[in-house]
Amino acid sequence: MNEKILEIDDLTVSFDGFKALNHLNFSLDKGELRVIIGPNGAGKTTFLDIITGKTKPTEGQVRFKGRNLRPYAEHEIAQMGVGRKFQTPRVYLNLSTRENLELAANRQKSVIHTLFRKTLNVERRTVAELLETIGLSHKADMKANLLSHGEKQWLEIGMLVAQSPDLLLVDEPVAGLTDEETERTGELLLSLAESHSIIVIEHDMEFVRQIARGTVTVLHQGSVLCEGTIDEVQSDPRVIEVYLGQ
Ligand code: ADP
Repeated sequence: MNEKILEIDDLTVSFDGFKALNHLNFSLDKGELRVIIGPNGAGKTTFLDIITGKTKPTEGQVRFKGRNLRPYAEHEIAQMGVGRKFQTPRVYLNLSTRENLELAANRQKSVIHTLFRKTLNVERRTVAELLETIGLSHKADMKANLLSHGEKQWLEIGMLVAQSPDLLLVDEPVAGLTDEETERTGELLLSLAESHSIIVIEHDMEFVRQIARGTVTVLHQGSVLCEGTIDEVQSDPRVIEVYLGQ
């Protein structure tokens, strides 16, 4: 059996009695790129919040690299190797592309990071390699406020990668991007998938088709409705029904 980087067992998250996640089970293999889709309100954001420790489970367990995450705070889970890319890029606009990456790469490491991470990803990527990976070597000295929306998204992805995460959580990375930027974002995620475990939440089905090479998970009403290849889930009558109900 493949090594699991993330295991979620019977997870329920209640907000004043309303179950945003309801007995959800999920697991991710080390090195897997998983796309998660689902209609609005399905629980996708809450799902990411649980993995990063922003929200704690009401019931159930989340294990990352075999460790139960419940005792850890959000910043500790980040230092253990969970990187999250939000929809809106969070880059320093008055710094250059290179300076943003340098800052991310040199972020002070805490004791918990040293304890948990010393055997993993020992070789940190150099800033030059990161610039190449995100396709911004030619804009290394440009202030981030002059980058396009797509370029800022790639820079933020680069800043996450600079911190050598084991698991990358990416929330709707192509919202507001041009078709060309969308395609390049897909290529970037596929290249990162060669060395990282990645979960992508996405609405744009054309983009899902571009990046989904394995299992796609469909969330609905806080649970996993079904899992399968993109063709399997798109032709599943249950999936068609929940999307038609939108
Ligand atoms: P998605 O990202 O799939 O659109 P969310 O995870 O944002 O879904 O939300 C799932 C459900 O939980 C929604 O019905 C939402 O209104 C509810 N919800 C999310 N966060 C809270 C909260 N902090 N308090 C109350 N209800 C919440």
